Amino acid sequence: MTGAAPPIPAAADAVDQLRAVGREFHGRSWSLGTSSNYSVVTAREPLELLVTASGKDKSALGRDDFVRVDAAGRVVDGSSRRSSAETLLHCTLAGMIPSVGAVLHTHSVWGTILSAADLPRGGLRIAGYEMLKGLEGIGTHDTVEEVPIFANTQDMVDLSVRVRRHFAGVDWTQPGRPAAHGFLLAGHGLYTWGGDLAEARRHVEIFEFLFECVARARMLPPGDRSPAATGHRQVQQQQQQ
Ligand SMILES: [Zn+2]
Repeated sequence: MTGAAPPIPAAADAVDQLRAVGREFHGRSWSLGTSSNYSVVTAREPLELLVTASGKDKSALGRDDFVRVDAAGRVVDGSSRRSSAETLLHCTLAGMIPSVGAVLHTHSVWGTILSAADLPRGGLRIAGYEMLKGLEGIGTHDTVEEVPIFANTQDMVDLSVRVRRHFAGVDWTQPGRPAAHGFLLAGHGLYTWGGDLAEARRHVEIFEFLFECVARARMLPPGDRSPAATGHRQVQQQQQQ
């Protein structure tokens, strides 16, 4: 599948919606092989998530390729299947941000390249692009989105602690633009979320577009690297003539 994906039907249940996300993201090269993992919050009190089972090909997720887990990432549906290795990160985000209804994690080429390149400065800076308006709460291109980058690890407890610590001062209940829409793991991929699966899916699509813009713009000769700013200069020059 390439280009625009069909909208995810609102009436479909969470399993079928997540299977559709897997097919789409695999087709767009954001979730190749068994990489990536997806979750939907199915209960809040106490917290419960439906998350992809470990090691499943995202292009062909079956109805049984999901498990229900609690806030600590423990499987609670009685199945013997293991949840995705990164389940704890999904639980951390859903527990930390009360409005989160879905968490999506992808492994794209551009996200992987940028996350490794910008790890030394601790984040990726995205500025001036119209598509930033696709991120919840942003209403203008004239803004900056800082995407934190965390060093990669296989230790999910350590990673969850670092993520919590990074966002410790954030009040996620404040209305309007949230403090962050996602983060990157260096040399690994993107985590983003949304109030529901449709919003989280949109955030993946927007971030992946922006990552490709940023990475490709860096390949341009110096002076041509800010397409948004260059476009504004051209408009001003034309108006002055
Ligand atoms: Zn991953």
